[in-house]
Amino acid sequence: MAEAVQACVHCGFCLATCPTYRLLGRESDSPRGRIYLMKGVLEGRLDLRPAVVEPLDRCLGCLACVTACPSGVRYDQLLVGLREHLEARLQIAAALREQGRPLPVHHSVEVLAQAYAPGAAG
Ligand code: SF4
Ligand code: SF4
Repeated sequence: MAEAVQACVHCGFCLATCPTYRLLGRESDSPRGRIYLMKGVLEGRLDLRPAVVEPLDRCLGCLACVTACPSGVRYDQLLVGLREHLEARLQIAAALREQGRPLPVHHSVEVLAQAYAPGAAG
């Protein structure tokens, strides 16, 4: 996954193909912006706060950005890797919750749990 992230050279050729970027016009809702967010999450630089999670969640998974990318960035692999990463964090949060232990991680895991697994939080 790190390789796929590094392959992005920020050229922006993918932006015009992305339906969420075309609709919302925000960098964070573009393939390039999402790759930046993914990198930050995976490197532990970005908390899973709504401003980070929501643009990732809004990705339609249409993969129009993959064919548009001249650098061959495998956005599809990035999406799978990110979801595995988030799933692992959610499982940790759920296990701790079951044990009645406080979360030793940022409270935004709770936000994520609500966003990705309704009914699991609380
Ligand atoms: S087209 Fe490819 S290399 Fe360029 S910004 Fe988009 S994902 Fe990155
Ligand atoms: S998969 Fe579709 S919605 Fe998601 S970043 Fe790529 S073009 Fe945009």
